[in-house]
Amino acid sequence: MNIALIAHDQKKEEMVQLAVAYEGILQKHHLFTTGTTGLRIMENTKLQVPRFLSGPLGGDQQIGAMIAKNEMDVIVFLRDPLTSQPHEPDILALLRLCDVHRIPVATNLATAEILLKAVEQGNMAWREI
Ligand code: PGA
Repeated sequence: MNIALIAHDQKKEEMVQLAVAYEGILQKHHLFTTGTTGLRIMENTKLQVPRFLSGPLGGDQQIGAMIAKNEMDVIVFLRDPLTSQPHEPDILALLRLCDVHRIPVATNLATAEILLKAVEQGNMAWREI
């Protein structure tokens, strides 16, 4: 599956912890990240991840383009709900595209774990409907 991993600055440590904890699952899939998130993941795991631009520079939109082309299966987007982001319109656009195309998106660590466990079990039948 194609899995996108994105984390805002205050959530990057959580993303690293998630990537470390689920490295065994993640390594079996094609991963895509925004710039700094991908760097942090590669610094802390053995995962090799292609990196798009940083979110504020268009990385969210690059991932959104993959969703629009039906090239993305799962999104883990650890958002920071307590800090205003300069690229808020891009964030909303990405989440909107997930809903338009019925792509599962986790925006916090708890949902991310549930989603990655579903990926591990191959329990993603709704992607084939
Ligand atoms: P980053 O982008 O991984 O380059 O920090 C994520 C974001 O802030 O949307």
